[in-house]
Amino acid sequence: MSAVLEVEDLTTRFATPDGEVLAADQVGFTIGPGESLGVVGESGSGKTQIFLSIMGLLAKNGRSTGSVRYRGKEILNLPARRLNEFRGDELAMIFQDPMTSLNPFLKISRQMIEVLREHKGLGDGEARKRGIAMLELVGIPEAARRFDMYPHEFSGGMRQRVMIAMSLLCEPDLLIADEPTTALDVTVQAQILELLARLKRELGMAIALITHDLGVVAGLCERVIVMYAGRAVELAPAGPLFRDPQHPYTKGLLLSMPRLDELAADQELATIPGQPPNLQALPSGCVFADRCPYVFERCRAERPGLRACGPGRLKSCHLEALA
Ligand code: SF4
Repeated sequence: MSAVLEVEDLTTRFATPDGEVLAADQVGFTIGPGESLGVVGESGSGKTQIFLSIMGLLAKNGRSTGSVRYRGKEILNLPARRLNEFRGDELAMIFQDPMTSLNPFLKISRQMIEVLREHKGLGDGEARKRGIAMLELVGIPEAARRFDMYPHEFSGGMRQRVMIAMSLLCEPDLLIADEPTTALDVTVQAQILELLARLKRELGMAIALITHDLGVVAGLCERVIVMYAGRAVELAPAGPLFRDPQHPYTKGLLLSMPRLDELAADQELATIPGQPPNLQALPSGCVFADRCPYVFERCRAERPGLRACGPGRLKSCHLEALA
């Protein structure tokens, strides 16, 4: 079946008073129908900017080149009027802070009814029914009563559910979730991830889950793309990536994840020493060279391209295999 989203050579730059920042550099991936892709990387790795580029939501000083096809149609850099035909109806994005998407001064009912009126042409009665059903679907208790509440009357986890319900109103093909659980405590985090997994199963919706935490993608995503300093350094099915990482950065991330089964009380977690490079002055060779325990001469001289390293796997590293 053809991909929902095909991204090729996506490059995003920002003009700043201190010079140009290269936020995403020749990134490519696909997302199939009903598939979930985890997009993992530290803050500043470019993971969010990729999806803001796709959605036409970049800050004014940003520009993107390359290609983004939604169901075969090129959508990168379309004018806002044309992009609005896709946004909400077919591609929806949710953020860490629900208040980015919810208006604090309007009741949930008014916000949902407006979306359904505008995008689906529903009358108030039908929109009300659909909105309440969507709140029920995301697990809001007493949905009919709470439909007429303001966002601040919900707890953090419930507000996140309301935002997910808002984004699902138009039944998008692809939900882009940017750190949707970062601000929540672990119990609520697990509930929201379970909710996304259930919605994916029940609605057949594809999901792009953007996170700095590899642990978050483990239960939900079939494939993972690992980003570092604006580049995709490893792409792989989730199972093989967790069992046998092929890029030194992925390996470092996995070693820095707490594992309850292995962590003794006094055992310290590994960390990746050093800092990511300055995106205004990237090295000519491998962007991970300054932090890589495997670095050798060629790494500093030559940028590693993405190459196959197993079934459905790609990595950007000169090494044949990790010891
Ligand atoms: Fe490390 Fe070299 Fe591979 Fe870069 S190319 S990740 S520096 S081994």
